[in-house]
Amino acid sequence: MFRATASNRAQPVRNAFRAPGHVRAGDSGSGPRRIWSALGARIQHRSYVAPANNAVTPIEKILLDNIKATGPISFGRYMQMCLSHPTEGYYMKSSQQVFGEKGDFTTSPEISQVFGELVGVWLLSQWLYAGNSRKLRLVELGPGRGTLMQDILRVLSQFSAACEAIEAVHLVETSPNMRQRQDENLSPLAFQHKWDLQWHTSIEEIPQDPSRFTLLVAHEFFDALPFNLIQKTQQGWQEVMVATADSTNLDSKSLNVDTTLRPKRDSTTSQSGVPSRFRRVLSPHPALSSNLLGLSSSRFKDLPPGSQIEVSPTAFKIARKVGELMHDPESKGERSAGSGLVVDYGAEKAFGNSFRAFKEHKIVDVFHRPGECDLTVNVDFAYLSEALAGLATPLGPVTQGTFLTRMGLAARVEALKKSAQSEERAAEIEKAAKRLVDSTGMGSQYQVMGIVGTRKDESEVRVEERWPFVKDA
Ligand code: SAH
Repeated sequence: MFRATASNRAQPVRNAFRAPGHVRAGDSGSGPRRIWSALGARIQHRSYVAPANNAVTPIEKILLDNIKATGPISFGRYMQMCLSHPTEGYYMKSSQQVFGEKGDFTTSPEISQVFGELVGVWLLSQWLYAGNSRKLRLVELGPGRGTLMQDILRVLSQFSAACEAIEAVHLVETSPNMRQRQDENLSPLAFQHKWDLQWHTSIEEIPQDPSRFTLLVAHEFFDALPFNLIQKTQQGWQEVMVATADSTNLDSKSLNVDTTLRPKRDSTTSQSGVPSRFRRVLSPHPALSSNLLGLSSSRFKDLPPGSQIEVSPTAFKIARKVGELMHDPESKGERSAGSGLVVDYGAEKAFGNSFRAFKEHKIVDVFHRPGECDLTVNVDFAYLSEALAGLATPLGPVTQGTFLTRMGLAARVEALKKSAQSEERAAEIEKAAKRLVDSTGMGSQYQVMGIVGTRKDESEVRVEERWPFVKDA
């Protein structure tokens, strides 16, 4: 996730959209231009929150007790508990300010509505490309406040054929707190157009249905999924686990404690300066599960001993399910059942040391204030592509800067500036949009991967070129 640094904390945060009637004033265009001039931006500033205290957090207590009782836990378990514990998890608590200046990080859809609108235009183009004869269902994984889906739906609702074709909007969200915000933001539009809003705890709950066309988006979702940290040794793949900091005697007997396992990022230490109550240890032997993860991609085979990689079997499983939703089994890959976009931090490679925590827009130790900090790990886009084998075709990834620029960011920003009510507001709109494509920041750090449901068998996988996922444009 993109987290603003302390110095840019006062960056604008995207807020609710204007009533269409109001913004449509002066609109004489048609097609995409009509959408652009029909939509407006409202930018708002928020204030700063004081740092938290140093007491043991509820999640920390649960984890410490757990480790004392049954031994070290995987990073996946640590991350899952910190983010998704039913009552104390970071995303689960209604008291937790997650997004915006008062929260811990800011995401692209929250910065500028242009982001969601251009994503909406791409999704719409996919339905048109597929012949626009089928009913539509929209799926979002991890919708946060629902801002991105709101922008997408607003774009789609400008096209009567698409607006009428939409039957349901499926939101995959584990947090009741987030669901409530999504409901507040999406219900008015859904009610107006009689679209069915459905929430799911897992993507597994959404049935494969090639009679409909599925448009899917996952923005800053895959980076929040639990991962395992595995290390290649002469014996095979061993897992790096989380132990308690005070368990030296136990660990030195039962585990090969490797005190060198201190990622450089952790040198930032916790804001509070309190020594961590957890530490990393290497499991004594290669377990079947870690060996299987090490074998789960042919790319990992030639890594030299000593290499550490962050591998997310959960991400693989979900990406495969995304592939299934895009896939029409009857047509043997000739006809697509959908298209999707995955946008996230990462690259087409496995990372070894990208796991990090964010608190109030700063990187902090991953063991700092468990349950009160956001945790994130870079996405291995090549792993997601591998998960689609035989089901769907990955496009790109391209950088967010490339995606948005090629999708017409400049034209949309100009239209928004023209409809802005003051010079100051026009300047804010421009600044927010520039931030999305900044080549030294969000524009290059985020990757956008397209997924389309057409795919022949492995021996004849087509090289799909679909705008804006084209080479040398
Ligand atoms: N897409 C939004 C929010 C990103 S934060 C944006 O970019 O602004 C991650 C979102 O995923 C939150 O809504 C969180 O509650 C949700 N989430 C995290 N883990 C999840 C899981 N395993 N299943 C479903 N949703 C999850």
